[in-house]
Amino acid sequence: MYFPQNGDFIDIHVHGGTPSSGIFILESLMAHESKIPAAVAGVAFTYGIHPWFLNESNYKQLIISVESLITHPDIIAIGEAGFDRLRGPSPELQRRAFEDQIIISEKIRKPVVVHCVRAWDELLAVHKKLKPEMSWLIHGYRGNVKLATQLISKGMYLSFWFDFVLRPGSGDLLRHLPTDRIFLETDGADVDIKNIYDKVASDLDLSVDELKSIILKNFNRWRIG
Ligand SMILES: [Zn+2]
Repeated sequence: MYFPQNGDFIDIHVHGGTPSSGIFILESLMAHESKIPAAVAGVAFTYGIHPWFLNESNYKQLIISVESLITHPDIIAIGEAGFDRLRGPSPELQRRAFEDQIIISEKIRKPVVVHCVRAWDELLAVHKKLKPEMSWLIHGYRGNVKLATQLISKGMYLSFWFDFVLRPGSGDLLRHLPTDRIFLETDGADVDIKNIYDKVASDLDLSVDELKSIILKNFNRWRIG
């Protein structure tokens, strides 16, 4: 099992990342790919059903593989799991699969990485219904301050979409949010997590070291639920 160290850049949502010195990555494994975690320094894993790759015929099998792999010590969270109104199966099937994964998360006491595209009502409805104790981390966030504040008020964390956060005007959103709820990610795109930290640190009037230590604290708090 590997966890981020003091001074590491944390890239909280990655697909197909390669570890390098000073960077901790949280690699997102998708149940339909049937990959299993490999013990590598600088890497921990999430495991879950991405809504794009869910359908009526693989649903049961994917849930079974989440149930069986989630106990793996290198898998520290469920995900990415959630809702996508633009891609994937019916909202009803997406909801069933998401609720099943939340129930697993609560039982095994591991938090969740959420994928949510234009389905915030559905997401909030599941949160209200299941009242999870484990913390949810919304990855790829690019919405407004009002929605961000609402999600944070439910105990959620936000990781910002890299392309959004690198834009000149994005600092305004970040300055309106509590820093103890934020994460940064590359989502496996060809972008350097260090540049994202540089941009956000300057937007928040922090040093990169201060931002690193804030995000490390967020990680340790999120991970234990
Ligand atoms: Zn992803």
